[in-house]
Amino acid sequence: MSHSTERDGRADSEVPRSAPPRAELDADIKELRAALGLEPPVDDWPFAAPRFSEGPRRRLTEVARLLLPDHAAETLEREWRTTGWWWMPGIDNEWECSFASDRFAAGVWGPGLRAAVSRTRKSASVQFPPSAGERLDRWSSISPMHAAHVTMLELLEADPQWWDTVRHGDYVVAADDWVSRLQDSLSGLPGDERRSAPRGGSDGSNLLDYAAAGLVQLGGLALTDAATADAVRQCVICDTPYRVRALSAHEVYTVGSTQYCPLCCADVVQGVLHDQGAMDPWANTAIWAIRTVSAHDFSGPPSREQVAAPLRGPRERHLLQVLTRMLIPRDAEAVFQPSRKQRSWTEWLALAEVLGEGQRQSRGTWITATDGHLCRSMFERHIDDFMTHYDIAHNPEPQYPYDAGLNPAGLRADWQLADGTFVEALGLTGTSEYDQKVERKKALASRFNVPLLLITPADLGRLPHLFAPWLV
Ligand SMILES: [Zn+2]
Repeated sequence: MSHSTERDGRADSEVPRSAPPRAELDADIKELRAALGLEPPVDDWPFAAPRFSEGPRRRLTEVARLLLPDHAAETLEREWRTTGWWWMPGIDNEWECSFASDRFAAGVWGPGLRAAVSRTRKSASVQFPPSAGERLDRWSSISPMHAAHVTMLELLEADPQWWDTVRHGDYVVAADDWVSRLQDSLSGLPGDERRSAPRGGSDGSNLLDYAAAGLVQLGGLALTDAATADAVRQCVICDTPYRVRALSAHEVYTVGSTQYCPLCCADVVQGVLHDQGAMDPWANTAIWAIRTVSAHDFSGPPSREQVAAPLRGPRERHLLQVLTRMLIPRDAEAVFQPSRKQRSWTEWLALAEVLGEGQRQSRGTWITATDGHLCRSMFERHIDDFMTHYDIAHNPEPQYPYDAGLNPAGLRADWQLADGTFVEALGLTGTSEYDQKVERKKALASRFNVPLLLITPADLGRLPHLFAPWLV
């Protein structure tokens, strides 16, 4: 196995996971296991290899271990041993965790950006939405270095209409210029170094392009922070030394904090437990994670999208949130002769016994939400549970006002909020009968001045944004 492949194996979410032939996989595993007990593998990293008395190893910190049952702590440390590590010589030739985004960050602070910033200020301007300043302030208090990038990623999710207006401006020209400069500055580095740069990967590269545009605009702020981003810290979860600049904007955005190392951030994004269809010794840990997430974060069984959404818990619960997200089971794409069928997400929820009475619902039957409200689908239930969890008062099935033309037979919305807003969960769009009904509801709402909030399955990951006006 080539060593660059070995490092790619965990580089970040942008690396495609294809299925290697079985024999190669076995050889890789053997080599990795052998290497773990001995010296770290010879790397193609263009620096001198540091000397280790023993191989670097991630171990749970006391504070993290206290939050986990014994089997979950064992599972996590066992999975860490078999998934490898990343290292580079850092200060005093001690090892530290590093990713390609490290270099990406170095590119950010280079003279190319400074030139692009001054040009951009002359050639382009953009009207930010009113919430941008507040978001930027909040992210600046978490990580000034990432604040501009992450704010742009958040705006993309919270305000897609605004992004559409930005997308078509001369602003994008400036972003392109910046991105190509960044690519130039990385061109001498190994291939896997370039993947974390904007447009380098298949996943989210466009987002990063636009985020980069934001950074150009706000560059003056970010440029001042290079020194603090360079300090070495210890990961709160696994004690790994790392620098804040080794965290990518996407990781900071997803995890919502900079107190975890890049390895732990990758574990949150990708998961540690992958369902290979085997009799996994970690099933109990996965079940514990699903139950904990269901009880603490969602007041009910979450959808896949909800579990993958950025973590935004209160500070005192954040560490537990991060640990449970790491241990939520994920699909494995490369499966060789599974000894059992891989479980779907719903099957995992059923195994963890978090679905409640309605777990075998089919089309046309009802599911009970956590607060007892009847819902027609898991989708409705997610929204109902979301409102329950955040203390948003909601009455199910309010009637639209009577209208001889538009509403002779008493159309109902899904919920009514305390301020009179009607909420509709649009789970079946695309069938013409359903779409016509939605159009009639919209017309009714506008005729009678009823505020209307429409939610589609694509919105599940951003419910906190949609419900922001009602969150206390
Ligand atoms: Zn860590």
